[in-house]
Amino acid sequence: MNTILDLHDVSKIYKSGDRTLKVLDSISFSIDTGSTVSIVGPSGSGKTTLLGLCAGLDRSTNGTVELHGKRLNGLNEDQLAAVRNQYVGFIFQNFQLLPTLTALENVMVPMELRGEKNIKSRALDLLDKVGLAERGHHYPTQLSGGEQQRVSLARAFSNQPQILFADEPTGNLDAETSEKVVKLLFDLNREAGTTLVVVTHDLELAAKTQRIIRIKGGKIVEAS
Ligand code: ADP
Repeated sequence: MNTILDLHDVSKIYKSGDRTLKVLDSISFSIDTGSTVSIVGPSGSGKTTLLGLCAGLDRSTNGTVELHGKRLNGLNEDQLAAVRNQYVGFIFQNFQLLPTLTALENVMVPMELRGEKNIKSRALDLLDKVGLAERGHHYPTQLSGGEQQRVSLARAFSNQPQILFADEPTGNLDAETSEKVVKLLFDLNREAGTTLVVVTHDLELAAKTQRIIRIKGGKIVEAS
């Protein structure tokens, strides 16, 4: 399959009381399997909302989102979760690790939810891949921001996703740590062919991706 993600005329409208806010307006693009793409634009332009729609975390108001040939719009919550489990990895700017679980347990959670086997040894392998084999028993508060982001990467890799969405993956990290995290993302793309879609303010990171989609006020203003 050459196209892993296809958006056609996608809009998102948030309603609160009698007020409506059109956050995304008629967005269309396709992303090739195995490619790397960044989504850039000013704060409030709709980037996070767009990423959530692409990843099946949220639904568009209008238009269609097709991920790996599956049209997400018509799916119920369970079906959406199944698509995410099978194809999608997601990393968040603020890591979203569970504070009461160790690094190892955080990586194991989605594997456990998927009913997988040998999860402890596989989670240890994943932590090793991100350079944190020795830190599995540490809790998130005992880890630096960069280490927490690497745990969240290990967690996102746990289903060997076809496509990885990353929302400001370097947003809370210093330059040196950012470099390590970015290298891990691109290693995954090169070695496993994982499609990479990143929302970023980091122009150095954006310049490393094959394509840049720029949005402003919920519309695409430039796409390479
Ligand atoms: P960006 O990631 O580019 O900063 P967002 O997608 O986070 O932009 O937000 C775009 C706009 O949508 C903002 O005005 C934000 O306040 C609004 N927004 C985001 N999520 C919601 C929500 N759940 N309900 C209402 N408005 C929202």
